[in-house]
Amino acid sequence: MSANAVCPVCDATVPLTPDAMPSELVRCRECGSELEVVTVAPPVVREAPMEEEDWGQ
Ligand SMILES: [Zn+2]
Repeated sequence: MSANAVCPVCDATVPLTPDAMPSELVRCRECGSELEVVTVAPPVVREAPMEEEDWGQ
């Protein structure tokens, strides 16, 4: 079973791992964009914010 999201930058298919979690970062293999998982059901990703870095304190 695999879930595929769509890259908002280049429309490529972005496979999510079965244990993907919201807010997890993935990288688009087509355009190299950092993407953030919004939801896994349905699989939706958005461009990850580049400036604010959340170090999870
Ligand atoms: Zn892309």
